[in-house]
Amino acid sequence: MNKVFADLPVTIFEAMSQAARDNNAINLGQGFPDDPGPEDIRRAAADASVNGYNQYPSMMGIPELRQAIASHYGRWHGLTLDPMTEVMVTSGGTEALTSAILAVVEPGDEVIVFQPVYDSYLPIIRQAGGIPRLLRLEPPHWRLNEEMLRSAFNHKTKAVLFNNPLNPAAVVYPREDLELLARFCQEFDSVAICDEVWEHVVFDGREHIPLITIPGMRDRTIKVGSAGKIFSLTGWKIGFVCAAPPLLRVAAKVHQFLTFTTAPNLQAAVAYGLNKPDDYFHTMRKDMARSRDRLTKGLESIGFPVLKSQGTYFLTVDLSPLGLNETDAEFCWRIVKDYKVAAIPVSAFYEQDAVTSVVRFCFAKNDATLDTALERLSDAV
Ligand code: GLN
Repeated sequence: MNKVFADLPVTIFEAMSQAARDNNAINLGQGFPDDPGPEDIRRAAADASVNGYNQYPSMMGIPELRQAIASHYGRWHGLTLDPMTEVMVTSGGTEALTSAILAVVEPGDEVIVFQPVYDSYLPIIRQAGGIPRLLRLEPPHWRLNEEMLRSAFNHKTKAVLFNNPLNPAAVVYPREDLELLARFCQEFDSVAICDEVWEHVVFDGREHIPLITIPGMRDRTIKVGSAGKIFSLTGWKIGFVCAAPPLLRVAAKVHQFLTFTTAPNLQAAVAYGLNKPDDYFHTMRKDMARSRDRLTKGLESIGFPVLKSQGTYFLTVDLSPLGLNETDAEFCWRIVKDYKVAAIPVSAFYEQDAVTSVVRFCFAKNDATLDTALERLSDAV
């Protein structure tokens, strides 16, 4: 059996969702909203299917979606993308990331990865024969710094994988950090694979800055996005890869043998969604921030120290001041059984030197769900 995969545990998201089902718990673990998602977009998918979007679409994605992705990033970030040579549709963000990693990494290449790290990155890097160089971001700010980058970048650094906004830490990186990373990518001639699936889920007037828009990065960045996160339709699994033609061409060669293509009716509906006016996205952010505030206030009133969430569906809680005498994982397995609320231990996002005192909660839920979860947790500390 393939050693990269044979000994891997089931992902924490699936394991904790299963525990939530087994214990009849409220699932604030895996990141998915509990409302059905925008009705007009769901209808657009149904209409597209009725009207004939059902056979294999073009491998790179239907032209109207590729055009919509290019226009959307033009409108929001002033990015000019050629929809035919610089945009590809994939079956979700995870496939987009896998296509990007397998396109770039060859045996012996070093790939810089920041912990906390999303759990799909490392196995795919290893499958490509790459050698992950792990850097550790520190709570509560989780920022990059020059010394850290200097310790890892070298002439073997083929790529860096960077997630912004960062799941699970809920940080939206400022321009300063992006410019620092960009400087190192240029100095060491490295490709940046940038997981930006949370790009629209940013709060308090914060602006998401795509790494590809930082000077010097246009031709060395592979930008990954996801409609699931943008439209709160996580099961649709529509991802996007945007990159200069020499990078995208190879990512497409991988994609053709991973999934080849993606449900065309869903693609048509996502194209419709991306063309919505700016207001739609601002309203989504406001609604999501309101849920964040509701869960933050509730957890704080119980006595949990909440680390401020700048973006994503998540907030994190630092258990260390509570004197609980248990790790984040022990805490999560205890509360799902005893309090019927599921959460994700942040230590699951580390391979070594884990931070073991931080727990992630998903607030992308309706008020009643959040309130019931808070009631259940009211005597948990
Ligand atoms: N991105 C989701 C999260 O962080 C999980 C997706 C998955 O389960 N594969 O909760």
